Amino acid sequence: MSAGQVPRDYYDVLGVTREAGETEIKKAFRRLARELHPDVNSHDPDAEDKFKEAAEAYEVLSDPERRATYDRYGHEGLRTGGYAPNFEGFGSVADIFEAFFGGGAFGGGGFGARRPAGPIQGGDVALGADIDLAQAAHGTKVEVAYEVVSTCEHCRGNGAEPGTPIEQCSRCGGTGQLRAVTRTPFGQVMRTATCDVCRGEGRVPREPCKVCDGRGRKVERTKVAVDVPAGIADGQRIRVAGRGHAGERGGPPGDLYVQIRVREDPRFLRDGDDLLTAVDVAAPLAALGTTVEVPTIDGPVDLEIPAGTQPHETLVVRGAGMPDLRGRRKGDLRVVVNVVIPRHLKREQRELLEQLAESMTEHNLRTDDGVFGKLKRAFGG
Ligand SMILES: [Zn+2]
Ligand SMILES: [Zn+2]
Repeated sequence: MSAGQVPRDYYDVLGVTREAGETEIKKAFRRLARELHPDVNSHDPDAEDKFKEAAEAYEVLSDPERRATYDRYGHEGLRTGGYAPNFEGFGSVADIFEAFFGGGAFGGGGFGARRPAGPIQGGDVALGADIDLAQAAHGTKVEVAYEVVSTCEHCRGNGAEPGTPIEQCSRCGGTGQLRAVTRTPFGQVMRTATCDVCRGEGRVPREPCKVCDGRGRKVERTKVAVDVPAGIADGQRIRVAGRGHAGERGGPPGDLYVQIRVREDPRFLRDGDDLLTAVDVAAPLAALGTTVEVPTIDGPVDLEIPAGTQPHETLVVRGAGMPDLRGRRKGDLRVVVNVVIPRHLKREQRELLEQLAESMTEHNLRTDDGVFGKLKRAFGG
């Protein structure tokens, strides 16, 4: 509502007739407030203004004297009668809600809603574990150790020393809630808070469990062996159901998530399910053809380098890569041939190379790819 705009009729704002009684007005306002609650209505940028408008209408119509003035003289009558809507001191719509409905209206249940008394699932635990590339290739088991909240076995989670009773909380009378009446600009409002003695349970043990101090839960160190499937990639998470923190009030436990970090292997780069490696081959051997030993994840194998292999040519060892996670196929090992040009030549070597150079013809040097193809190969294309 911008300044200078004619204020809307208060009855229209609340959607009630001029004959509406006190209860109906209150109901209408509560319904509107619930609709305009920022948790529900985050998509409406006007929700705050609409709520202020509704609060103003409610403030007037819930007060018999102001309502009578408004009925006879309208908005103008209220203003000359000294009334002006007062939202100063309320920083945000959240503050106004707070004044109306008490603390915790936002995210904490809202509108006097009780803390849920039913089962609550336990929290999840997230951890990391490091494995080698070979372990990732073959699958492995990792053992993780962590602190977990578990149900106290001594009291079976109820917090009472075995054989002693659990009684109604005397502080809150068993409701789990503490109530206080507060004065606000809108009149008296009831505030509620979770009982600090029974923490909302409404019941407390007469003699708290000696092991867990009455909490029914304890923190303990635990170990879990986690199966890591072959083919797992760096950063993938494995979920182990039910190995998180214990639930409350009979709720199920949370889950354990283990993020697998695959250590780098200096011999290989991983490209999806393929592995890449490089091998040095002396230029004369690349020209003549030879056999070299290349590493694979399962140990070295012999690889034939065909005569005339060019720098950065890639040879493939089929199936020597990583398995895919479903175990259906394996990737390849791609071997980049790094042709090494001999340096620090001795005299006779130099003479041999000079003879070779002199004897070469266009036919020896012709390649099938143009400049562009050569560049692509050199840069790993
Ligand atoms: Zn206990
Ligand atoms: Zn209590």
